[in-house]
Amino acid sequence: MENKPADALSRKVSLISTMSVEVTEFERLKEDYSICPDFRKVYATLSEDKSRSNEFVLQDGFLFKSNKLCVPRISVRDFLVLELHAGGVAGHFGRDKTIALVEDRFYWPSLKRDVAKIVERCRTCQLAKHERQNTGLYTPLLVPHVPWQDISMDFVLGLPTTLRKHDSIFVVVDYFSKMAHFIPYSKTFDASKVAKLFMDDVVHLHGVPKTIVSDRDVRFMSYFSKTLWRMMS
Ligand SMILES: [Zn+2]
Repeated sequence: MENKPADALSRKVSLISTMSVEVTEFERLKEDYSICPDFRKVYATLSEDKSRSNEFVLQDGFLFKSNKLCVPRISVRDFLVLELHAGGVAGHFGRDKTIALVEDRFYWPSLKRDVAKIVERCRTCQLAKHERQNTGLYTPLLVPHVPWQDISMDFVLGLPTTLRKHDSIFVVVDYFSKMAHFIPYSKTFDASKVAKLFMDDVVHLHGVPKTIVSDRDVRFMSYFSKTLWRMMS
């Protein structure tokens, strides 16, 4: 098998510049390899002697399989999958297309299964499907005309705790542009802390949305809106 470290590195750089994942998220992979059940063995072996695997290559602290960047289990897998799934103008690709996009750039053992699961759970896709099914029967769901006016908020709980003590992802999606923000948080955060994150990461960039669809209960949402209004007044 042929390894091309130079290609792999330029690939990583181009990945960083084409995706809205922050460089710091990629930097974190380096710390996560050594504690990841999928990669810690090969990582330890290669750290001792770079020539001891023909399958994997260690480059600048990043692990590659052929020219695919290995992503540890204790890390940003979900972020990367959602980025590629929702990415681009077309947005929200189907299962097979998303698997192909992810497989083309990244490697981890359960990749296919994980991607399928994430695509199946995608809130925007579910809403779009719901909308299609109900066409002609009911008043249609909102049809957005302007970016960041009608958004959804989802809370993906119970991920492995990251080194920064975040165990959940707060996902905010704009219905119009299909653009999403992935905000790390901890499941111990209450509505006021979530409102603060929302203020910093969404309102400061895009303004105040008109409607918010969320999977959280009415009490949470009411407290969330109250805190948000208080912060803006
Ligand atoms: Zn989707």
